[in-house]
Amino acid sequence: MSEATWPRVILHADMDAFFASVEQHDDPSLRGKPVIVGGIGNRGVVSAASYEARRYGIHSAMPSREARQRCPHGVFLKPRFERYREVSNLVFDAMRSITPLVEGLSLDEAFLDITGSVKLFGGIRATGEALRARVHDATGLNVSIGIAPNKFVAKIASDLEKPAGFVIVPPGELNAFLDPLPVKRLWGLGEKTLPRVVRAGLATFGDLRRARPELLRALFGNQAERFRQLASGIDTRAVQPDREDKSVSAEETFPVDLARLDELEKVLLALADKMSARLRSKSLLARTLTVKIREADFTTHTRSRSFSPPSNDTTLLYREGRELLRGWWQGHPGARIRLLGIGTSQFADAVQNDLFSAGGAQAARPVDQLVDAIRGRFGSTALTRGKLLERQGK
Ligand SMILES: [Mg+2]
Repeated sequence: MSEATWPRVILHADMDAFFASVEQHDDPSLRGKPVIVGGIGNRGVVSAASYEARRYGIHSAMPSREARQRCPHGVFLKPRFERYREVSNLVFDAMRSITPLVEGLSLDEAFLDITGSVKLFGGIRATGEALRARVHDATGLNVSIGIAPNKFVAKIASDLEKPAGFVIVPPGELNAFLDPLPVKRLWGLGEKTLPRVVRAGLATFGDLRRARPELLRALFGNQAERFRQLASGIDTRAVQPDREDKSVSAEETFPVDLARLDELEKVLLALADKMSARLRSKSLLARTLTVKIREADFTTHTRSRSFSPPSNDTTLLYREGRELLRGWWQGHPGARIRLLGIGTSQFADAVQNDLFSAGGAQAARPVDQLVDAIRGRFGSTALTRGKLLERQGK
């Protein structure tokens, strides 16, 4: 395969049955069993199903009631989002060890632009294999990979041979690859449009690619050309790397340099309180805390530590910060301090955690909200696709 002919190399990575796989990994007695995550209580919905459960027709976003009817002996588990986030962080760390150009779509799915990594890893296949091995080493879990010259085809490719799929579609083979696929694999074809497309005699991507312009216009209106392009494997959207971690912090520059640890600790408590309040107002939980210390001569030091579970609790964050400050102070006795700051990063979403936490709070929330949260945040495939189309429309 000539790699010089690839204008860009885009990889789509998608963990296999992510939440259910995490559960089966953490509790080996669940391996080989139909595991359904979510679906606790009659008003709930399924947020993930193991491949064993999928054999019973169970899929994410299905009402729990239906899932229980289909598979009464299945193992139904409450989601442990804290754990999934932890594993997700490992997955994304592995991705970023391959390329900095990582665009996350959900906890377990991302696009990677690996154009610049291919040489380093010794080829396109080798780069994908490296990612797969690193994800597995870090988590014990399988990722499915699709590699293509663009996002649209890469995403279709990663889905084709799940689980543990690995599909490469070179630029010269786009039509050969796409043409036989059924039109239902085209993201963005709504449930209403799909039957119309099929009734019009367009069963495959190839049919759509070769269809008369008038027919496409009748079916898709002003989106006709867009759909023809997608069916032809044309997609120019670039991978949009995730922004740096947001951070929330508070700091203070003193009118007079401070030279006593107890004074510094008092200031630190006030800063921690201010910062924690901001975190709570944004419904964020932090995993990492940083203390910034600037000496009178403007030398600036930072000390960080991570903790689990993530928190926005003033007392906890203050204590973590105080440990860091004391540790630094031991190495710099008698320092004169001009500025002290405390900051947090690596956030989890507190609202999200509440939504899925066990207990009455969840039952009180409208089912729709739960469904939206699961789909929007954790990626029912259909809605992830919808989201992507929205983006490409912009
Ligand atoms: Mg997945």
